[in-house]
Formats: sequence, structure tokens, C-alpha cells
Amino acid sequence: MTDAPASAHVTWDGVDLHALAERLGAPLYVYSASHIRNRIASLQTALRGTDHLICFAVKANSNRGVLALMHEQRVGADIVSAGELWRALHAGVPPERIVFSGVGKSEAEIAEALRVGILRFNVESHDELLLLQRVALAQGVVARAAVRINPDVDALTHAKISTGKAENKFGVSIDEARRWFAARGELSHVQLDGLHVHIGSQILSLEPFRQALQRVAAFWRELVAQGHPIASIDVGGGLGVCYREGHDHPIDAAAYVALVREALAGFEGRLLFEPGRYLVGEAGVLLTRVIRLKQGEERSFLVLDAAMNDLARPSLYDAWHDIVPVSGEARPMITYDIVGPVCETGDTFATARALPACAPGDLLMILTVGAYGASMASTYNSRPLAAEVMVDAGRYAVVRQRQSFEDMVAGEQPANHWETA
Ligand SMILES: *Cc1c(COP(=O)(O)O)cnc(C)c1O
Repeated sequence: MTDAPASAHVTWDGVDLHALAERLGAPLYVYSASHIRNRIASLQTALRGTDHLICFAVKANSNRGVLALMHEQRVGADIVSAGELWRALHAGVPPERIVFSGVGKSEAEIAEALRVGILRFNVESHDELLLLQRVALAQGVVARAAVRINPDVDALTHAKISTGKAENKFGVSIDEARRWFAARGELSHVQLDGLHVHIGSQILSLEPFRQALQRVAAFWRELVAQGHPIASIDVGGGLGVCYREGHDHPIDAAAYVALVREALAGFEGRLLFEPGRYLVGEAGVLLTRVIRLKQGEERSFLVLDAAMNDLARPSLYDAWHDIVPVSGEARPMITYDIVGPVCETGDTFATARALPACAPGDLLMILTVGAYGASMASTYNSRPLAAEVMVDAGRYAVVRQRQSFEDMVAGEQPANHWETA
């Protein structure tokens, strides 16, 4: 339990949030284009003079408006499905700026990505490596591949977003990767000349990155000494953001880049980065109205019009999100359990949270929802997907219209047409 942050924003990237909610309704996702551009620039500035490519992890926020903004800033895409490939290409991202990660790439997905000519596959198992060879052979092309190393380090983050421990499903051990390179000659249609590592998400200290990079660097040096050229090292994503003011202290982009440079000193190939959360997390807020106050036997509940279907992180990861009123006026602090209308006890945004006294109709904002917010939303409880809007220096543009009931049920039908298979 803590006090809510004192500052309350009334505008977001120069746009009046009360007016926006009046016009577009709530719940409403609002993304600041300026904030996203600044985040990209901070990484690009730190990387000046280094051969690099930033590939935005599309799963963090796959909205077409966000992807178009990324592309405008010359940021590529890190995809994990054919659907994300489709989104990236339709946002204008050229295939030579797309990398494909994930443990479950299907044959059809690999074939499609090869057909359009993506930059690189981050391969996560030997089975996938052989499949990539087969599909590339059939198409008569050479696939560029990196092996995703599981460095067995603890990212010191939530267990459900940790990916670099030996017990996680991601990547392969350095021992296994060593065997892949030793047998590289057997791969006629896969150019295995890259290393990839991604140890988890919402990482707030440099130490896990340092450990992972040291292991990757040692392996890279060993491979080069054995005559295996390494053209690119992809250091993944994972940079954390601030969900709780005064509590989360994100790593500075320049310090992170300095660490990567130091760990990989002497590497002359291309560095790939796959930030997701860092680029968009803090740029987004979720506007929501108070539906009612409910006085329980033991607790005061603040019932919002946003719910776990709109923002799953609190119910999925017990994640903390700062919640503040969209109004600066001073009011006494009250302790609430802040919940949504969905019929699940897990539909709770905050427990015993101090907030300035609220009344029905009040507008609140849930902060740092630009990543893994709308992209994880569902229509559970038949609640249509919320609208999403981009704001930019005083102007706004709707980037996702609020879903109608008709949109919500599109594709469903009664079982009228029975067939046999
Ligand atoms: C999810 C993911 C990312 C992005 O992670 P963030 O923590 O959002 O930066 C990058 N690379 C891979 C392979 C991922 O699965």
C-alpha cells in the first residue's frame, strides 16, 4: 500500500483527456506519439556509429498505427507469428527489417516468411532448424538464421516473463548451439551466422543483461576462433519501464547500450535490438470512468468501466499499475480496491490503493499500459474491444475504433450447416 502519485496529468501529449473521453468514450487507450519517438531516439542516439537495427517486438503493441509510427522512424519488427508478419508488412516495414522469433513457428509460417524474404530467423530448436532447411531447399532459397541461446541466467523479473533460465522453453543451451555450428556444413540452405538472446521482460537492473551478454560474447569468440563467421548478434529486448512511481527505476538506454558495447567489444557485425515494452509502455494510458462505489463488509470497491479483458496484466502477473485521477483538484485520500465489471475475482486492478476520493462518472487513468495492454485484450464477458487513439503534440487520431457488437460476433454463426468430414 502506498500513496498514489501526487501528479495528475490533465493532458497527454498536448491533448485534453477530459475532452477526448467525452468525444470517444471510455475505456480508451491513448498513446503518445512524441513519447514513442523520444524512446526510439534515445536508443538510436546511444547507438550512433554502431551498425545496428532496432526491431520493435510487435507483440507489445501490434496496433497498425503504432507499427506505422515505428516504420516512419525506420524501426523494423520482431515478429512471433504469421499474423504479426502480415501486420508488419502492411504497416510498410520492409522484409529486410523483420526478424522472426518464437518456439512454435509452423511450416506454413516459415514458408511465408521465407517467401517474403525476411532478414533472419531466430531458431529455437533443432527440429525447427531442420524444418527451416527443408522449407528453404523446397523454395530454392537460403534462409539466414541465428541460434537463440538460453544463457541460463535469472532475469530477476516476474516468473511468467522470465525466458532465459534453463528450465524455460526458449532457446537452446550453448552446448547444443555448439553442435549446430559444428554441423553447419550439412545445412545447404540455411546460413547459420547469427546469435540471439532474450532473457525476459521488465528487467530493471543491468546485472542479468551483463551475465547473459558475457556468456554470448564468450561463445561468439569461440565460434570465430573455430572459423564460424558471425554476422549479427541480436541482444533481444527486456528493458523495463516504470509501473510504480518512486519504486521502479528503469535502466537508462545509454547505460544499457554501453554495456552491450563493452560486452561485445571487437564485434564488427551488426547488432540487433528487439525492444517492446521500453518503446511503448510508458507512452500509453488507459482512460476509464468510475461506474460506482460499492461499500463491502470490509472494503470499499471502486468499480471502473475498464476490466481485465481490456488490460490483463494485473490479473495475469499481479502487475502494479499506477492509477491517477484526470483532475488536479485536491481531495481527501481514500483506500479502495479498484475493480472492473467482469465476473472474476481476478478482475482487480489494485488492492487497498489510496486514491483521492472518487465519485461515479470520474475519469481516471491507468498508467504505463502502452505495452501488453491492448495487444493482450479479449472480448471476455462480451465486452467489445476498447478504442485506441494516438495523440501527437495537441492533435489526436483514432487508430482503432471501438468495436461494435456486430464486429465482436463477426464470423460466429448458429450450427445450421451440418457437414461430414
Ligand atoms: C517479447 C519479446 C521481446 C520484447 O520484450 P520486451 O520486454 O517487451 O522488450 C523481444 N524479443 C523476443 C524474442 C520476445 O519474445
